[in-house]
Amino acid sequence: MSGDIETTARILDGKSLAGEIRADLTRRVAAHRAAGRRAPGLAVVLVGDDPASVVYVRNKRRACLEVGIAARDVDRPAGTSQASLEALIDELNADPDVDGILIQMPLPAHLAAQSLLDRIDPARDVDGFHPINAGRLLLGTPGLAPCTPLGIMALLDRAQIPIDGKRAVVIGRSNIVGKPMALMLLARNATVTICHSRTPDLAKTVREGDIVVAAVGRAEMVRGDWIKPGAAVIDVGMNRDAAGKLVGDVAFAEASRVAAAITPVPGGVGPMTIAMLLSNILASYESRLELAGRGDLRSS
Ligand code: NDP
Repeated sequence: MSGDIETTARILDGKSLAGEIRADLTRRVAAHRAAGRRAPGLAVVLVGDDPASVVYVRNKRRACLEVGIAARDVDRPAGTSQASLEALIDELNADPDVDGILIQMPLPAHLAAQSLLDRIDPARDVDGFHPINAGRLLLGTPGLAPCTPLGIMALLDRAQIPIDGKRAVVIGRSNIVGKPMALMLLARNATVTICHSRTPDLAKTVREGDIVVAAVGRAEMVRGDWIKPGAAVIDVGMNRDAAGKLVGDVAFAEASRVAAAITPVPGGVGPMTIAMLLSNILASYESRLELAGRGDLRSS
C-alpha cells in the first residue's frame, strides 16, 4: 500500500505480535523447567487497594502465569511506612527466586516513590525505571529498558519500517515512555524531535515525522492532517472518550487515511508492553542463570 491519501494504512497488530512473543517465551521457560531449573519469578508489590492498580496487577500476574513465570503478589496496606517498604525491597532483592520486582504505581501520597524505585536491584528492575538502567539506555550499554518503548521498537521492526536516517517525532517526554522512546530511536539512527506541552505549533512539527509516536494521554489529539503522508504512526495513549470507550492519542480514522502504518487502540502498543515485561523477566532470569553457573538455579 502506498501513502496515497485515499488508501488505508497497514494496521500494526500488537496483539498478534505479542502472542507470538509470548509463545516463544513459553517455550523458553518450558525448556528451562525441563532441564530441572526453577521457574523465573516476579514479585509485584501493591500498596493499598486502588481499584485500577488491582486490575493491572491481576493482568500482569495472569500474563506471567500463562508463560510459566511464577508471579508472587506482595500486598501491603495503604498506611505502610516508607521504612517497612524499604525493608521489603531489600528482602526481595536478596531472594534468589526473584528475578523481577515491580512496584505498582501510583503509591499512596505519603510514600517517596522514586526512592523506592531506586532501591530495587538494577538487575531485577524489569520495568527499566532504575537510574542505573536509565543511564545505560542513555549510554547505549546493555541493561533492562522500559517495556512500552521496547514493544514499539519490536512492532516497528516486525513491520520492517525503516528507522535509520528517518525523522522521528515523539510527543511526550515522560521517563517511562517519551524519553526512553526517543533514546531508542536515536540509537537506531533516526533524527529525533521530542515534543511536549510547551512545544509551539505541534502539528507542524508532527508533520515532519516519518515515524510519529504519540504518548500524551489526550484523547484523539493528533489529527489526520498532522500526519505526513506515508508516515508510521504509533499511538501509546490510553484514554476514555465521553462514551467510556478506550481511545488513543491519535484520531485513528483520520490518521489511517494518511499514514502508511498505524497501531490501533486497543490491540497495538498495550499488548506489546506486557509482552516486553515478560521478556525482561526472562532476560533477568537467564542472566542470573549465567552468573550463577547453570546448576545454581535448580529447584531443590
Ligand atoms: P505523562 O502524563 O507522564 O506524560 C505526558 C506527556 O505528554 C508529557 O510529557 C506532557 O508534556 C505531554 N503533553 C501533555 N499535553 C500535551 C499537549 N497538549 N501537547 C503536547 N504534549 C503534551 O504520560 P505517560 O508518558 O505516562 O503516558 C502517556 C499516555 O500513554 C497515557 O495515555 C498513558 O495511559 C499511556 N500509556 C500507555 C501504555 C501502554 O502500554 N499502552 C504504557 C504507558 C502509558 P509536559 O512534560 O510538558 O507536561
